[in-house]
Amino acid sequence: MVIDDNNEDSSSKIAAGIINPVTGRRYAYTWMIDDVMPFAIQCYEEIESELGIKLAYSKSIIDFFPSPQMLNAFADRLMENDTYLHSYPDQNHFNQYFNYDFGCGEIKPAYTVHLQLLLSSWKKKLNELHSVSEQKFNVNELKIDKDFISYQNIAAQKIIFCEGTDGVNNPWFQPLPYAPNKGEALIIECNELTSEHVFKKGLMLAPLPDENIYWVGSNYQWEFENDQPSQQFYQHATSVLNGWLKKPYKVLAHKAAVRPATLERRPFVGFHPQFQNVGILNGMGTKGTSLAPFFAHQLVQHLVYSFPIVPQADVHRFTRILSR
Ligand SMILES: Cc1cc2nc3c(=O)[nH]c(=O)nc-3n(C[C@H](O)[C@H](O)[C@H](O)COP(=O)(O)OP(=O)(O)OC[C@H]3O[C@@H](n4cnc5c(N)ncnc54)[C@H](O)[C@@H]3O)c2cc1C
Repeated sequence: MVIDDNNEDSSSKIAAGIINPVTGRRYAYTWMIDDVMPFAIQCYEEIESELGIKLAYSKSIIDFFPSPQMLNAFADRLMENDTYLHSYPDQNHFNQYFNYDFGCGEIKPAYTVHLQLLLSSWKKKLNELHSVSEQKFNVNELKIDKDFISYQNIAAQKIIFCEGTDGVNNPWFQPLPYAPNKGEALIIECNELTSEHVFKKGLMLAPLPDENIYWVGSNYQWEFENDQPSQQFYQHATSVLNGWLKKPYKVLAHKAAVRPATLERRPFVGFHPQFQNVGILNGMGTKGTSLAPFFAHQLVQHLVYSFPIVPQADVHRFTRILSR
């Protein structure tokens, strides 16, 4: 039974759903990417055939270097390891669409996943199975016994909290080192752009499944007053676009959400050390699209077969602070 309050501005619904195997200014490979990316893609493909919809798109990332230093960093990293980084021989290929002075490289394989469609379609399926209840979960109504839990008229062996950034207020897991991070995005319409790739130059510009519609973002704010779209981001993003994109575009929407990030940039997966029927799957940070399928599966394997969870993600690494 899934209980969800259908927040239209949850992190997953605002995200671009990009799976990028490299990260940061040094093009380091994303944590566990060799394991989590193929697992995630297989999982999305299985959901695609189950639901009869298209969710995951293979889209390499064209990285326009913002400076000669970044061009050099890319070249150095490519010499070390070329699993995900590739030179792009036709350097002028994107001149018709973009201004770029220092060339570009290609990151692949990389993917975009249509998370909004995934969530709405899966919810429809759960609805047909009478397995979803749309409401705000109220922790005060949850009763935890030794071998079962109960909530309103639901009785179950376990409960697993997947609350995203609202997890910071969960009474059982509150002491975990969350570091919520606000991000914003624009949805734009641009009729003369190719949707073959994701493009990156400071911001990411990613095609959405609807024709001529693109996602543009994001920023990373550790300190913020609220979770609403800000004028500051709007001005920044449109000024970047005006200097970068050569084609006319129209802003259709401006969105914001808070990512459930964590101080050590690793997820929280497993069961509470003292309340063994209370679990968590959270802390996906900036990488939910690739991490969530892998760690949801690990949690299920742990639940059913007692298989171990990757230690860096296992919530038992916080046994001391959770037992206070
Ligand atoms: C602007 C932006 C861009 C991003 N881009 C990417 C990207 O390209 N690639 C990527 O991998 N990640 C990206 N992310 C991060 C990604 O969105 C997260 O890692 C992921 O979506 C987190 O998923 P989640 O299910 O843990 O949390 P959420 O998506 O927040 O889901 C939690 C759900 O729990 C519900 N809930 C919480 N409390 C209650 C309650 N008490 N009762 C009922 N329901 C409740 C909420 O309503 C929500 O539906 C981005 C995030 C942002 C903000």
